[in-house]
Amino acid sequence: MQAFQEAVQAGTALPLMEAFYTIQGEGTHSGVPAYFIRLGGCDVGCVWCDVKESWEGAKWPVVSVDEIVSEASKYPGRVAVITGGEPLMYELGPLTVALKAAGFKTHIETSGAHPFSGDFDWVCFSPKKFKAPHPSIYEQADELKVVIYHSSDFQFAEKYAALVSKKCQKLLQPEWSKQNIHLKSIIEYVKSNPVWNISLQTHKFMDIP
Ligand code: SF4
Repeated sequence: MQAFQEAVQAGTALPLMEAFYTIQGEGTHSGVPAYFIRLGGCDVGCVWCDVKESWEGAKWPVVSVDEIVSEASKYPGRVAVITGGEPLMYELGPLTVALKAAGFKTHIETSGAHPFSGDFDWVCFSPKKFKAPHPSIYEQADELKVVIYHSSDFQFAEKYAALVSKKCQKLLQPEWSKQNIHLKSIIEYVKSNPVWNISLQTHKFMDIP
């Protein structure tokens, strides 16, 4: 048990909820085949979270980085997306270094609620109202993706747009269950504020994970 805890702390083994090869459905890389590595554990607590079963990290098996990368390498795609849960709860250096050594581009999807770690080619920062981001995320973010669940979320989005770098892509994404309510206002907002683009959860339209 002690050895497991030490390995997780060092990032050489991580609680793995699931891993699967699919198509990235959201954001700048929408449509790209990718191997998703979903780590267990999240302390952010979004009310609309669609992976609430990920929240309790301790219930997922601790898997070595070598095994995670070896499984990922069985598929032809060479983009690996580390998601959760909240993946930055863990030290991601060893996993990202091993993925890159195996030829992968490393992507992360994070709320930024914990200090940044790891060597990433693409950082998707999706801040949440339920837990403030750690400031280390702002300079790392390649993509700011704000989920619109309520009309006040546009203001929330602008607050973070002012904190990320100029090169950071800015995306507004309707929360799936509220898409009918908010999509029209998102379209109008983006037309008036063209620094923003729209992201849709296309994997849900395609009915893939
Ligand atoms: S940060 Fe992600 S996993 Fe955590 S509660 Fe929010 S949506 Fe769910």
